[in-house]
Amino acid sequence: MLQNPVEFFLNLSKKICPECGESVEDQAESYILECEHCLSKKVE
Ligand SMILES: [Zn+2]
Repeated sequence: MLQNPVEFFLNLSKKICPECGESVEDQAESYILECEHCLSKKVE
């Protein structure tokens, strides 16, 4: 699937939440992939 290379790098620098597809603010906890909204929904 062809992708706009600019968009590709934007996606690299900007994390995308795998749950809802929202862009995730880069945080100190770099292991966090989900956005705060989806994280708050996970009660584990
Ligand atoms: Zn999310």
